[in-house]
Amino acid sequence: MNLILLGPPGAGKGTQAKRLQDTHGIAQISTGDMLRAEVATGTPVGKEAKAVMEAGELVSDDIIVRMLASRVSQPDCAKGFILDGFPRTVPQAQALDHMLVDTQLKLNVVIELKVDDSALVDRIAGRFTCAKCGEGYHDSFKPTAKAGICDACGGTEFIRRADDNRETVVARLDAYHRQTAPILPHYAAKGILRSVDGMADIDVVAKQIDAILTQVG
Ligand code: ADP
Ligand code: ADP
Ligand code: ZN
Repeated sequence: MNLILLGPPGAGKGTQAKRLQDTHGIAQISTGDMLRAEVATGTPVGKEAKAVMEAGELVSDDIIVRMLASRVSQPDCAKGFILDGFPRTVPQAQALDHMLVDTQLKLNVVIELKVDDSALVDRIAGRFTCAKCGEGYHDSFKPTAKAGICDACGGTEFIRRADDNRETVVARLDAYHRQTAPILPHYAAKGILRSVDGMADIDVVAKQIDAILTQVG
């Protein structure tokens, strides 16, 4: 099963992709996580991407497409992959089409998480993740069960992203509407686009996604 989770920043892509990785054994591929790892280790790609990410703009298609091409060929993708945060532009969607033909892989479904812009700012402003295992949380919507302790691994250190502030969110939402939303018709035309109500609770969104995967699987 190969799928794309599509939606604006803060829509819940990472939350749902992580869950699907655990329940379905398919690999989560987050281009944002990959870029943050490049920034943290100071690679040439990381050096180029850092300022762009902090401004809430998109990293060049060239860099992203090369990064993704080497990722989907790794062994953990054998049972399938969930693309989280890719493609984000029409050229990226076209590059993915070619990649799928070249590797003889099929894209089963594209799931759009629909969330109102007004809800996204609060989602992003309250987001934090465990430094040790990467589990995602939210100050109000998904707090840890015990304050300061990760439910998943017991870790006590948490990270907030440099670009998760109210100012940068506006630029990221703008980039989504201008550059990413135009890829929806690309997948609608192929008949593989499905939408879910991303405003619902995390568990309800998960159920909607599972129902779609049962239908297309
Ligand atoms: P994305 O990967 O699309 O940017 P995340 O999965 O990181 O989004 O979710 C953004 C924030 O909102 C996180 O703090 C997460 O815990 C929270 N969140 C995710 N899904 C929901 C939901 N359905 N309702 C409320 N909060 C949510
Ligand atoms: P979000 O929570 O906004 O969905 P991500 O973690 O997916 O965030 O992405 C963080 C940042 O990394 C983006 O704002 C952008 O600068 C960069 N980025 C991630 N994926 C891509 C991509 N496919 N194309 C261009 N830039 C990307
Ligand atoms: Zn943890």
